[in-house]
Amino acid sequence: MNVLVINAGSSSLKYQLLNVETREVYAKGNCERIGIDGSFIGHEEMGGEKHRTVVELPNHKVAAEHVLDILTDLDVPIDGIGHRVVQGGWLITESVPVTEESIGWVREVAPLAPLHNYGEADVIEYCLQRMPDVMGVIVPDTAFHSMIPERAWRYALPRDVVDKLKIRKYGAHGTSHRYIWRASNEFLKGDIHKLVSCHLGSGASLCAIQDGRDMDTTMGLTPLDGLIMGTRCGSIDPATVCYLQREGGYTVDEVDTMMNKQSGMLALSGLSSDSRDIEQAADDGDENCQLALDMFAYRTAQLVMEMCQALEGIDTLAFSAGIGENSATMRAKIAEKLAWMGLAIDPEKNAVRSDDVRDISAPDSKIRVLVVPTDEEYMIALDVKQILGK
Ligand code: ADP
Repeated sequence: MNVLVINAGSSSLKYQLLNVETREVYAKGNCERIGIDGSFIGHEEMGGEKHRTVVELPNHKVAAEHVLDILTDLDVPIDGIGHRVVQGGWLITESVPVTEESIGWVREVAPLAPLHNYGEADVIEYCLQRMPDVMGVIVPDTAFHSMIPERAWRYALPRDVVDKLKIRKYGAHGTSHRYIWRASNEFLKGDIHKLVSCHLGSGASLCAIQDGRDMDTTMGLTPLDGLIMGTRCGSIDPATVCYLQREGGYTVDEVDTMMNKQSGMLALSGLSSDSRDIEQAADDGDENCQLALDMFAYRTAQLVMEMCQALEGIDTLAFSAGIGENSATMRAKIAEKLAWMGLAIDPEKNAVRSDDVRDISAPDSKIRVLVVPTDEEYMIALDVKQILGK
């Protein structure tokens, strides 16, 4: 079965056409700078070269139109379409077929993720109109977290307020964490019960998973909560928001931009949001960059402990995403902070680069440590296959 996976971001639209059984990727690409000057499409076919086409992309619908044109020329039949949706909110708590009604749900919960959901709904609607015979599936990134126990998702705010505004922990990266559980479980042949999944990319979150059930996660109402990220501050005293407005004179939008786009590793390092640049500068003696890396590792280790409490234990810790998969330095720093609990990684295994799932634990480690390259597209394609099968 061939599935087209569409992942519409705030100003981008990534796509991948793959075979679910063989995991063969026929084509993939990215429409970038949607709604901004200088938009283009980067497209790649299996065994071919990457092409970059400059094209005007005023909105997500036009981007989707181009993608379907390109893929129609490919002559690979599309059996289903999987749409990643950033926020399923209180209405979409599992993957569901695309219908006029479910598209309405994506729009209804959009105030929780206005930069993403509206564009995503437009793309889903366009695909339904253009290919009415091909089943679409909505895969919300929040769905996995909807099974978190109430003690973990409820906020201690007045009940009438949280009920009216639907405030709760929704989390994000759910599809990735679900995949990391699946791949870890497969790799360990079922010998796994309590996993702390660490998705460490430019956005970063942890997830506590017990026997496949999501018990807690570090992102909250929005993806700003939890770990320190590339440009996001993560958890801070919530009163800081009021203080910035009252004493600093910043507007609501300015605080929002500051916390989401001008904070995190970018602010701490004073250099870049990319950990490759920060690691390089730290090696060259830059003290701000050294502190930024130390703080990232400290906060991550601290929240790993929070996830351990959700699980009342841990047998496996899995590193994933850009930093988790590629930075041996950051993995070692985090492991060092968790050494007191008997977690240890093998320096030689940690240094190996590979696209496969691997065990990097030291022989005497009390906790298994894995590196698991995430594959959200494959997870989405599997959901499409499952729902189509029904
Ligand atoms: P997202 O999907 O959230 O944009 P990714 O999971 O692709 O993020 O992660 C991107 C980040 O991964 C980069 O910003 C960079 O900080 C980090 N990264 C990628 N490769 C390396 C590496 N070799 N060493 C350190 N950090 C890396």
